[in-house]
Amino acid sequence: MRSHYCGQLNETLVDQEVTLCGWVHRRRDHGGVIFLDMRDREGVAQVVVDPDTPEAFANADKARSEYVLRIKGRVRLRPEGTQNPDKSTGMIEVLAKNVEVLNTAATPPFQLDEHGKVGEEVRLKYRYIDLRRPEMIERLRLRSRITHSVRAYLEGEGFLDIETPILTRATPEGARDYLVPSRTHAGHFFALPQSPQLFKQLLMVSGFDRYYQIAKCFRDEDLRADRQPEFTQIDLEASFVDEDDIMAITEKMVRQLFNEVLDVALPEFPRMPFSEAMQRFGSDKPDLRIPLELVDVDDLMKGVDFKVFSGPANADDGRVAALKVSGGAKLSRKEIDDYTKFVGIYGAKGLAWIKVNDRSAGLEGLQSPIVKFMESVIEELLDRVGAQDGDIVFFGADKTKVVNEALGALRVKLGEDLNLYTQAWAPLWVVDFPMFEREDNGRLSALHHPFTAPSCTPEELKADPAKALSRAYDMVLNGTELGGGSIRIHDQAMQRVVFEVLGINEEEANEKFGFLLDALQFGAPPHGGLAFGLDRLVMLMTGGRTIRDVIAFPKTQSAADLMTDAPGEVSAEQLKELNIRLRQKATEQQ
Ligand code: ASP
Repeated sequence: MRSHYCGQLNETLVDQEVTLCGWVHRRRDHGGVIFLDMRDREGVAQVVVDPDTPEAFANADKARSEYVLRIKGRVRLRPEGTQNPDKSTGMIEVLAKNVEVLNTAATPPFQLDEHGKVGEEVRLKYRYIDLRRPEMIERLRLRSRITHSVRAYLEGEGFLDIETPILTRATPEGARDYLVPSRTHAGHFFALPQSPQLFKQLLMVSGFDRYYQIAKCFRDEDLRADRQPEFTQIDLEASFVDEDDIMAITEKMVRQLFNEVLDVALPEFPRMPFSEAMQRFGSDKPDLRIPLELVDVDDLMKGVDFKVFSGPANADDGRVAALKVSGGAKLSRKEIDDYTKFVGIYGAKGLAWIKVNDRSAGLEGLQSPIVKFMESVIEELLDRVGAQDGDIVFFGADKTKVVNEALGALRVKLGEDLNLYTQAWAPLWVVDFPMFEREDNGRLSALHHPFTAPSCTPEELKADPAKALSRAYDMVLNGTELGGGSIRIHDQAMQRVVFEVLGINEEEANEKFGFLLDALQFGAPPHGGLAFGLDRLVMLMTGGRTIRDVIAFPKTQSAADLMTDAPGEVSAEQLKELNIRLRQKATEQQ
């Protein structure tokens, strides 16, 4: 139907006849001449319709915003003074000979260039209109280029694209499962995969050696910032590899991707043990663009006459840490109050601070509600954090977990608010994760997932599981975890020990993962892999603010689709077929 996309037109086509198909972006009536800005996914072109072509003119006159038109005409240079060299189509226009209305359009719920005036809810309800915005088109186009580049790279490295089932059994990745009732097996349910983890390991047992998949994963997680119940992973697994191999393959992939798609040469990927990341940055995904670090001061605070500090300093599970911000003494009272509220989100009970106005003036030169309690250690403290005139030092004192989370988040927020970034891209690998973490109920749970290999023997693991490290690795970029993976357990005995430590008894292990345990005894090769969160990767690469910006049809924070109104009720008949009786009518639950 068309000869060119609107956005493809330029001066090289002057005097040529073209046929365009697209949407009316804007229509202006200029004293007897109608200007139509015609839009398609490649851009906008200006079309001029004058009364010399009465039929075309009449149709153009009828056209309204978002009507679908087909236009035949000749490309010509715009008259001097009306040219716009900043736009790719800005030097030319199309003089229409023929205007055909392919379809009309109701008045859209929002004008594309006024999308900011309506809430995200309206944009999600009419997502197909929101997706007409050039910004959205650009993001999805980049997403497509990203998956193309990744596929090309992995295929080149000998990885095979193999699909794994969506209707399956639970795969433990730490979230709740989405369940699908079975009609043919009354009372039984499929689980949607939280990841293809078990299947990709089974493919290694089969000997496929190198697998990848751009895979949909489903996790029914509690409302947390910027998560989607269904999301996409670039998932891969390989046999006869160690952690260096997987890290090298995937680092090269990401490096090449940034090069091809953004023309960015990523810097070195340093490797940092988990413990160091927590110590220095309070996070296992540190944003290394920000030059702020947490500094331990427990030893100094043990003896101070200030319980808020001395308590955690003397407790086994406590931590007192300082965070110095160069030039931060200029922060106002109000700003400090706001930061205090901010750390409260992470459980911190307050935010102590010292402003260093004039170090040479001793205590007089310091401004702080707490300095009177720590006169004896103040000099050493300021030396340790390297405080100079004009700086502010913040403190966190609480359980280690709270201090890490609160100061870790504060560090990122200060970096953003004060624009402290020292570089555009800061990648790294975080390695040497603990195998397990202790939950509030005292039980151990797998930090990664229970198929991750420990870096010790089964005996050592059994003897002191809380100390064991794993052969897991995370790739982090600008404070975002891009992906994570591990070398897996390929030995049935080791797998059983891990289940034992996790309190999964033999019966339960066989019930849930018997097929994996079986497979491990039929010649499982050493193997390992990694999965990248595609949505987050695309978000970082396109500068989107949330992953909803880079997913064509995302769900809301409460896991609903406003456009299709999913999840929806189903008929009594369907429920009966599935052997399901609802305890309460859904409407009564609300
Ligand atoms: N299946 C893991 C995840 O989704 C990734 C991996 O270990 O390869 O986090």
